[in-house]
Amino acid sequence: MLKIDNLHARVDDKDILKGLNLAIKPGEVHAIMGPNGSGKSTLGHVLAGRPGYQVTAGSATLLGQDILDMDTEERAHLGLFLAYQYPVEIPGVSNMEFLKASVDAVREARGQEAIDSVSFMKRAREISREVDLDPAFLKRGVNEGFSGGEKKRNELMQMMLLEPKLCIMDETDSGLDIDALQVVAKGVNAMRNEERSFVLVTHYQRLLNYIEPDYVHVLAGGRIIKSGDKSLALELEAKGYAWLEDAA
Ligand code: ADP
Ligand code: MG
Ligand code: MG
Repeated sequence: MLKIDNLHARVDDKDILKGLNLAIKPGEVHAIMGPNGSGKSTLGHVLAGRPGYQVTAGSATLLGQDILDMDTEERAHLGLFLAYQYPVEIPGVSNMEFLKASVDAVREARGQEAIDSVSFMKRAREISREVDLDPAFLKRGVNEGFSGGEKKRNELMQMMLLEPKLCIMDETDSGLDIDALQVVAKGVNAMRNEERSFVLVTHYQRLLNYIEPDYVHVLAGGRIIKSGDKSLALELEAKGYAWLEDAA
């Protein structure tokens, strides 16, 4: 699904990713944990092709295709989705219009027919209920005036509508209460299948009680310094990161 080799990237002339390696097979769920400022969000942004991030060395392929030279839309069409740590607001563009345009573009790129507006609205309303977001939010500007938790649920809704191959979720659990966390976990677990993979960036072991990862990685200083199974998350919760950073 995803293969990252020796990835180096910088932002504003500052080296952030410094030789990151990661390989994800179809169907796998990988959790990425790590100290603040270690480069977790940068990794998501570099993979999604957000402007302002320069890759200075290394490679990243999605489904066998080199994505680093693709623009953001091409990567999305190929099946990459990034749920942002800080979802962007797009005032004046209705959430429904935005979702429909995103889904239309992805379907077109995959050679699928466009969904008619009525069916799409029906599906969007169903999913909004599944993520516990009032369907009234579909009529508002994208994330405009949404609370933190509402933005996260809106990202999940977008992900469920787009049906990506690789879902990268950047701290989707941060700031959520237990009920909302369970909604997110239920949505992700329902989407899990043999052909779809997930990268869950999280600070909390708690999420991994609800979404069981195949692997847990520690990202520190721009590299993966330790990988393990879900027991590593428990160990990190108990011991923090310093013992690993000292050893790395
Ligand atoms: P994490 O998500 O692991 O907390 P980030 O990837 O957001 O870390 O940030 C990694 C480092 O890159 C931090 O030191 C941060 O200040 C820096 N950084 C991120 N984005 C920018 C930016 N646009 N300009 C300058 N520095 C940035
Ligand atoms: Mg952070
Ligand atoms: Mg971050």
